[in-house]
Amino acid sequence: MRMQAERFGTIFIDEEIIALGMEGLCKVIETSEGKYRAKSVIICTGAHPRRLNVPGEERLTGRGVSYCATCDGALYRDKVVAVIGGGDSAIEEGIFLTRFAKKVIVIHRRDELRAQKIIQERAFRNPKMEFIWNTVVQEIHGEVKVQQLELVNRQTKEVSMIDVDGVFIYVGILPNNELLESRIELDSAGFVLTDEYMHTNVPGIYAAGDIRHTVLRQVVTATSDGAVAAWSAEKWIIENYDAFEVNSAE
Ligand SMILES: Cc1cc2nc3c(=O)[nH]c(=O)nc-3n(C[C@H](O)[C@H](O)[C@H](O)COP(=O)(O)OP(=O)(O)OC[C@H]3O[C@@H](n4cnc5c(N)ncnc54)[C@H](O)[C@@H]3O)c2cc1C
Repeated sequence: MRMQAERFGTIFIDEEIIALGMEGLCKVIETSEGKYRAKSVIICTGAHPRRLNVPGEERLTGRGVSYCATCDGALYRDKVVAVIGGGDSAIEEGIFLTRFAKKVIVIHRRDELRAQKIIQERAFRNPKMEFIWNTVVQEIHGEVKVQQLELVNRQTKEVSMIDVDGVFIYVGILPNNELLESRIELDSAGFVLTDEYMHTNVPGIYAAGDIRHTVLRQVVTATSDGAVAAWSAEKWIIENYDAFEVNSAE
């Protein structure tokens, strides 16, 4: 993909962006190495899953610890998996995992789910799903792959171990939005709000992919957003070309 983009004139610069600002209509991208000015910018800095931050999580990520059932679910055919969380994503992905796993154990820190009632009802009706309430994961155990979860009941403080082949963590997804221009409108969780043209509320600034307020975060939706954003940005530049002058990189 990169080679193809380069053949069409795309220039790749591997630098960490530390700020995105505006000077009039002109966008100023500040990196650790310098500043770039642009007529238009497409933000696609992505998002990352919130971690549990418990021992074993980082070491066993990709070896039984996963943050994406749609991606990794099929690897757990006839296995026992745990899902951590109680929101829509946790429960929907838990239901999805029952297509493959023989048992899906939802571990939730409260005594009721936050997921929409209709999703909850589907989960409670599913014979493959079990629930452990008022409980958090204290440690993820396993030599080369996940084998056990060490749990603590938040009310009784009782510690227990359960055997699992995998654990899917759904305790939130965090946008990589630290560098964004403060005028860019975000939703309450910090994702960038756009219209169907991927345009943010700031003229000439677009967003695509996981950073965007969206219903599905997958490669296919991110690339689709990117195509729409690139088309929109080009159209915007043509329409506004006379309105500003852009200097080359400083
Ligand atoms: C564990 C996991 C597995 C997944 N598996 C699948 C799968 O199998 N199939 C599927 O369709 N989807 C999968 N997804 C989802 C998919 O990865 C995302 O939807 C997709 O990558 C989003 O693309 P994006 O370009 O918006 O963001 P990303 O792919 O996250 O790219 C964002 C880029 O921006 C860069 N960046 C961020 N901040 C800065 C900065 N300040 N300066 C410079 N660069 C910066 C990052 O380094 C990164 O390269 C998975 C997600 C996870 C977390």
